[in-house]
Amino acid sequence: MSLIVQKYGGTSVADLERIRNVANRVAKTYDAGNDVVVVISAMAGVTDNLVDMAGQISDLPEKRELDVLLATGEQTTAALLAMTLNSMNYPARSLLGHQAEVRTDCDHGNARILDIGADRIQALVKRRNIVVIAGFQGCDPHGDITTLGRGGSDTSAVAVAAALGADSCEIYTDVDGIYTADPNVCPKAKKLNVISYDEMLNMASLGAKVLQIRSVGFAKKYNVPIHVRSSFNEEEGTMVVNEDAGMESLIVTSVTHEKNQARITLKKVPDQPGVAAKIFTPITQAGVIVDMIIQNTRAGGQTDLTFTVPTADYDRAMALEKKIAQEIGAEDVFGDKNIAKVSVIGVGMRNHSGVASIMFNTLAKENINISMISTSEIRISCVIEEKYTELAVRVLHTAFGLDAEE
Ligand code: ADP
Ligand code: ASP
Ligand code: MG
Repeated sequence: MSLIVQKYGGTSVADLERIRNVANRVAKTYDAGNDVVVVISAMAGVTDNLVDMAGQISDLPEKRELDVLLATGEQTTAALLAMTLNSMNYPARSLLGHQAEVRTDCDHGNARILDIGADRIQALVKRRNIVVIAGFQGCDPHGDITTLGRGGSDTSAVAVAAALGADSCEIYTDVDGIYTADPNVCPKAKKLNVISYDEMLNMASLGAKVLQIRSVGFAKKYNVPIHVRSSFNEEEGTMVVNEDAGMESLIVTSVTHEKNQARITLKKVPDQPGVAAKIFTPITQAGVIVDMIIQNTRAGGQTDLTFTVPTADYDRAMALEKKIAQEIGAEDVFGDKNIAKVSVIGVGMRNHSGVASIMFNTLAKENINISMISTSEIRISCVIEEKYTELAVRVLHTAFGLDAEE
């Protein structure tokens, strides 16, 4: 007998019919003699609607209250799934984050799980209950509800699996597994049977939202293998595991894209010590995460400085930079929200050169201009115009030999 953690995402619980489908899958696993703990997301679209409603009340809703609101999405589905299982004569119990003892820090909207006191879950499982936990939420040291950042139910599931020492952690979603590129953008993307934590960490950090990045970090730290698969069929999905020597090491394993980035440029900045600190300290103190940074040197002791921020933080960052530009005597500040980042990723890149030139030539052939570049030992990212995103992903996918056979 095994202890299995199953997480079902928003599209898998989008209506009562799909919740019934989930209940049947859970029941089947339970009937096979396994203990089952389910982690559930809100119905697809519900979290977006709640965020939108809060936005109609205030530009900056109180973060504590926003978390109380957002947590209701998962509260609803947890209760509905437990009820459905009960109506099928299975002993199911729903638990909210605080009832499941999911303890987090106080960072409302982006809280980190500190630990999970698994006592209550374990006691219920021992009596052969199916435990249904509301994902995406926890409780801080003040007893307040917190949420874990968008896509956070993945992290709830992996953390619960780690805390319980589960035999397996299955993430059920609306695609058959992890692909070489987003299958909804790149029709020739191939499903991967297995991928290493490190590659998945890179993919998640560069736009592949199939797993929240923190869930992968958690899985790596506690060595929890994750099985990503579809809730709509019985196909085997993709295993996310530790890198091992036997793993096929292609130079490039995936292409990712990210659209929710914006660019800000400060023109003719005085080229003096301390200026970069003046430009970046206020926005990082305001909680804005700066991603790529480029500095060009001009003649006459001046530079242009360009950087990217999440689109959601663009207006805030722009307002701050306009003030800073005046203080430091920069000539102008301008920005662009219509950009995207495309990246190629692969641990095999460590030992190969030439990946960058293939990437740049492939984009050039399609007349796609590259405005920023950043690299690490296992990835290269380019910022391009947003309207070329899909085209760029597809041509890069082909250029690196990743296309599925017809
Ligand atoms: P859930 O609601 O189940 O958590 P998400 O929408 O968060 O599902 O994640 C699944 C989506 O991730 C897919 O529908 C797909 O569009 C997207 N995705 C992006 N990159 C990839 C990839 N490389 N492989 C699979 N899916 C991907
Ligand atoms: N419901 C939350 C979201 O939409 C968490 C999740 O689905 O993982 O981001
Ligand atoms: Mg998700």
